[in-house]
Amino acid sequence: MTQQQKEFLRLCIIEQQKYDEISKTLGVEKSTLSKWYEELKEERLKIAAIRTLWKRKKFIMPFSEFYTKFMSKERKCFYCEITESEINELIESGRLTTKRLATRGRKLELDRKEPNLEYDNFENLVFACYWCNNAKTDTFTDEEFLEIGNKIKEIWKRRLEN
Ligand SMILES: [Zn+2]
Repeated sequence: MTQQQKEFLRLCIIEQQKYDEISKTLGVEKSTLSKWYEELKEERLKIAAIRTLWKRKKFIMPFSEFYTKFMSKERKCFYCEITESEINELIESGRLTTKRLATRGRKLELDRKEPNLEYDNFENLVFACYWCNNAKTDTFTDEEFLEIGNKIKEIWKRRLEN
């Protein structure tokens, strides 16, 4: 992806500007923008998935701000430190199974360390894997759950080394 295409994605998908406007800003023909739109389908869908999350959690901040913050957060479970690529590695090799996988599991989820605070408080937000998020509920504090996460981390490590 070129720098210009990256900027196109930002203006089109994140800022949701019209082609006329983007064409002027970037100095690129609209027909080229249409071609890029098709070419960048995979990247578009990734951003669309993040927009869905932003909508579902009813964030107040604009999507562009949310997207930047979301992308700059470290992508591993705050509690057990597993990453999405490790989760998928375990799933693909059959070392991790659950009936839930159709709906949850492959992607890290957003967890509010302090569940009574608004989602918009980004300092309070961390990524959590489905297994930690599901077990933490609103019962354990983030500090308490880090103790449990440490144990889960050992188990993931064992499975990943197997
Ligand atoms: Zn976890």
